[in-house]
Amino acid sequence: MLTKILLIEQNEQERQWLTGTLAVAQLGHQLTAVDKIILKSETLLSDINLLIVAEEQFINIAKRLKHLFTLQETPFPILVLTKNFSVFNYDNYLALTLDSFPKQSITPQILNHIILSLHRDFEKNNLLKQLAHFDELTNATNRHLFNDRLKQALFRAKRFKEPISLLYFDLDKFKDVNDKYGHEVGDKLLQVFVKTVKQQVRESDTIARMGGDEFALLLPKTNESSAIEIAKNIIRELAKPKQLLKNKIFIQTSIGIAAFSGCESPTVLTSKNMLKAADNAVYQAKATGRNRYMVFSSKN
Ligand code: GH3
Ligand code: MG
Repeated sequence: MLTKILLIEQNEQERQWLTGTLAVAQLGHQLTAVDKIILKSETLLSDINLLIVAEEQFINIAKRLKHLFTLQETPFPILVLTKNFSVFNYDNYLALTLDSFPKQSITPQILNHIILSLHRDFEKNNLLKQLAHFDELTNATNRHLFNDRLKQALFRAKRFKEPISLLYFDLDKFKDVNDKYGHEVGDKLLQVFVKTVKQQVRESDTIARMGGDEFALLLPKTNESSAIEIAKNIIRELAKPKQLLKNKIFIQTSIGIAAFSGCESPTVLTSKNMLKAADNAVYQAKATGRNRYMVFSSKN
């Protein structure tokens, strides 16, 4: 794996010295060295797999990372270079894979060792996060991660006055599938459902299993008419017969849609309201005959 490193060090001499030390460490890396991160260079952060940053700059960077990545989880480990061996406070950064080391004591060998062990820790943390944040059966996001993503997306929607939509699904008569074909087929159906929904949405959208046969789909930057289009496409694709083990079955679901323009007052634009609205709409969809979508309206 090519290690793409971003080095942030304000002091030019130290930046050059670190660049040289990294070169001797021979990590087979590609390095970008900057004196500070500016708004425009945030794109740099989306394309690296290691961040090396001087302690003085770290606090600022950490604030940025918090806005850029959900759960403050960065897609790369971080090495913070400190002034001495005195304690670095890790408490605020437990979600990050992070290590600190005094700059003055760095040698190419030490750097090599720390970077390898940081990468190892990062892999381990990812495995634990996968177990903690995703549903084992369907690999959909779990409720915990979904709620966090929803909060982040609402934060953006409010800030940039962007539309945001949420689809809530409750599969129709799913108990009957279990009863008629067995639990194994029911399990397979849940997996195929998630796969089918994923095929209809962008990678940046989040499909979550909220429990049992209930799912939620978060659609950032999506207005009501686009959300309706997506709901229609999903219903259409689910209606195509699926080979589930030895049986050909089609899937039906009721869908509740909550669509916000982003211009509502902050007290209205909350995750609780959005989930409640979508849940209300799904209830309406069930009550009016199932296998359909319903858009939440306060008049319902
Ligand atoms: P409705 O149209 O009213 O939603 O009817 P329904 O039969 O789908 O009823 P409901 O949503 O209340 O029931 C969900 C069922 O999903 C109950 C439970 O047996 C089943 N279920 C929940 N989790 C799993 C699972 O992991 N695997 C399988 N096979 N079934 C599950
Ligand atoms: Mg159901």
